[in-house]
Amino acid sequence: MLVLDNLTKTYPGGTLAVSRFALTIEPGEIVAILGGSGCGKSTVLRAIAGLDPATGGRVLLDGEEIRAPHSKIGVAFQEPRLMPWLSIAENIGFGIQDIEKAKRQALVKAALERVGLSGFAGAWPRELSGGMAQRAALARALVAKPEVLLLDEPFSALDALTRADLQDHLLELWEIDRPTLVLVTHDIDEALYLADRVVVMTGRPGHIQSIVQPNLPRP
Ligand code: ADP
Ligand code: ADP
Repeated sequence: MLVLDNLTKTYPGGTLAVSRFALTIEPGEIVAILGGSGCGKSTVLRAIAGLDPATGGRVLLDGEEIRAPHSKIGVAFQEPRLMPWLSIAENIGFGIQDIEKAKRQALVKAALERVGLSGFAGAWPRELSGGMAQRAALARALVAKPEVLLLDEPFSALDALTRADLQDHLLELWEIDRPTLVLVTHDIDEALYLADRVVVMTGRPGHIQSIVQPNLPRP
């Protein structure tokens, strides 16, 4: 279970970006955090990822406090952020270098297969289209079979067709291990299509509305 216990974030300049954000997410749940630009969505996601810890409150995963990046948590962002000097396979394996080589290679191979990039292990990031690069980023986030997958506007930079294709692909990937999925988006259609539950953040820190969506069967 993922518990966001009254997360608060004040940036060094003094901006209060998030105030007492509280949310409990069940294992395997798909939650979308929906809100306009600047309302604090990315700040919440970076805190869960341990990339930029909150200044107040706690993130608890199975009772353990998260304050730094963690192998149980995979993250992907709006831009794929692949390292241009590494091959696709090297990019996907980059975060799991502490795993013994044969096992690491098997994990990378499986991740590439899952996202439909088997033929591109040795390709360079610049050789991939936007949608393919974002699939590589998904593979990198999923390679260690994380308990929690965090996605920050993962499809916003893609054209509508590629976006729809990747949304369906994400649901297929989710079906395999059913990780807890927290998705940040400003796209209400995307939130309603993908999520079991949509949490709406308003622009005013401390004003958070929670919408519980009936658990409709997925398409
Ligand atoms: P969203 O993801 O909803 O667009 P963010 O979490 O990026 O919102 O930003 C929330 C608020 O915090 C905004 O006012 C933004 O300008 C501010 N902010 C975000 N990151 C930083 C930072 N690194 N330093 C200072 N202020 C920041
Ligand atoms: P996102 O789409 O994730 O909300 P933004 O374009 O708002 O991203 O911000 C991109 C980067 O700039 C982030 O690392 C964020 O922390 C930082 N940032 C955003 N707003 C500010 C700010 N007011 N001051 C300093 N850094 C900021």
